Amino acid sequence: MAVPGRPVPEGAPADLAATELFAVDAYLRSFEARVEAVDADGRRIRLARTAFYPGGGGQPHDTGTLRWGDGRAAVVQVARDRSDGGRIWHRLADDAPLPDPGAEVHGVLDWERRHLTMRTHTALHVLCGVMWADHGVAVTGGNMDPGKGRLDFPLPSMSAEFGRQVEARINEEIAKAHEILVAFVGREVADEDHALIRTAANLIPREVDPLRVIDIVGLDKQADGGTHVLSTAEVGSVRVTGTESKGKGNKRVRLEVHD
Ligand SMILES: [Zn+2]
Repeated sequence: MAVPGRPVPEGAPADLAATELFAVDAYLRSFEARVEAVDADGRRIRLARTAFYPGGGGQPHDTGTLRWGDGRAAVVQVARDRSDGGRIWHRLADDAPLPDPGAEVHGVLDWERRHLTMRTHTALHVLCGVMWADHGVAVTGGNMDPGKGRLDFPLPSMSAEFGRQVEARINEEIAKAHEILVAFVGREVADEDHALIRTAANLIPREVDPLRVIDIVGLDKQADGGTHVLSTAEVGSVRVTGTESKGKGNKRVRLEVHD
């Protein structure tokens, strides 16, 4: 990841690195960009590049502010628009002015929300790694909010005692301070990688090449578009707050991250 002193990950597509800044640098909190398009009716703007995560893979979108000239607006929603080739649009608060096309804006993320979300997303991948290592099951679904999340696994049974064991194992792995890398992996290489095969990377459309991969070194590796912390130690600690049956062969684990 491109934190100060670290380069953009090797193999990152140049257009992605230039436009979707969060994909190569999860720690970028502010940026400058030109307004490419304005949708006044939808109160949305498209930027030439952005650090705002648009939501996806269970990770919620970012919020924050944009400033330009004497204008200022809260960014209340960020989403890809399928009818615009999947490009990212920023919805501004109803009471805010809209910048003009071509304006240069300064964007600032709500970093408290984003960083907590990064810790949460990484904690969920640690849970995936633990469930695979200890129980041989792969995640089937999930979701997260800043600070809490849930994942489902194909297990025959679930109990509070199981939840306590899983919580202890997650915190044990967090304490090992596993390094977390963003890698861009060509499909031919990905197709031979057992860790990626078991996390169903093969189900991603073939035209997505290379795959963006989040590698919690030594624990979990999966194709993922989200933003993560640099080390599992940065997650803090995890509490398993719920274990539920969602039907035969589908069991849910809920967790929260704490300092
Ligand atoms: Zn993920």
